[in-house]
Amino acid sequence: MEFYEIMKKSAENEGLMFDEIKYNQFIKYKNLLKEWNEKINLTAITEDEEIIKKHFIDSIKIFRFSPLSKMNNIIDVGTGAGFPGLPIKIVNPDIKVTLLDSLNKRVNFLNTVISELGINNIDAIHGRAEEFSRKEEHRGQFDGAVSRAVANLTVLSELCIPYVKNNGYFIALKGPAVEEEIKQAKKAIGILGGKLEEILPVEVEGTDLRHNLVIIKKVKDTPKIYPRNAGNITKKPLI
Ligand code: SAM
Repeated sequence: MEFYEIMKKSAENEGLMFDEIKYNQFIKYKNLLKEWNEKINLTAITEDEEIIKKHFIDSIKIFRFSPLSKMNNIIDVGTGAGFPGLPIKIVNPDIKVTLLDSLNKRVNFLNTVISELGINNIDAIHGRAEEFSRKEEHRGQFDGAVSRAVANLTVLSELCIPYVKNNGYFIALKGPAVEEEIKQAKKAIGILGGKLEEILPVEVEGTDLRHNLVIIKKVKDTPKIYPRNAGNITKKPLI
């Protein structure tokens, strides 16, 4: 029960209920992460305490944006080993979560965690963000798109905003210095149908980490030509 109290406090600070069932799911997830990380590259963070704080608690902090709790479905773009999408699902099982990553080995890991934890209403999908959102059944279909550590905000906006319904939100988990990145991304956000709503600073309990949630509201449909192919998204950013 070493980390139980700190996780409970972190979750409760964001208005979430936390109990031993959820805690045990996190511990199982941590153990699988460590086990699989010896065979495939999932994370550079390998100590228990760091996994709990820098992956789990950091992911939970996204609930500082309180409308997230009321969302029916979200997509986590470039989820890697499941961050922040899997912790979101564990602490709030009512949200339907889609985890998307372009590396199949990581998706295999996620499917193992999902089955070992016995959680429902969650999909792990192998695909590229800029291709998956071109399909009618995914475009404009999510209350929220979330993403951590995948690309700069300009590129990430093109990868994420197309998934979001009008009046839904794209929430980017970013580091402490976001001002310049936001300034650069303003034009792209507008072109893609988004509007910067707010920047929420969050502290990661038990660490000196200070992060920011960049909250972008979808205010109109993303024009059909977006997202472009991967080469153009990175070589010709919308700045
Ligand atoms: N979000 C996780 C986290 O915070 O720990 C993983 C971050 S990792 C640095 C970036 C992940 O994004 C990788 O797993 C990579 O495969 C995935 N990725 C990068 N570009 C992508 C794309 N265009 N579509 C889907 N996944 C992508």
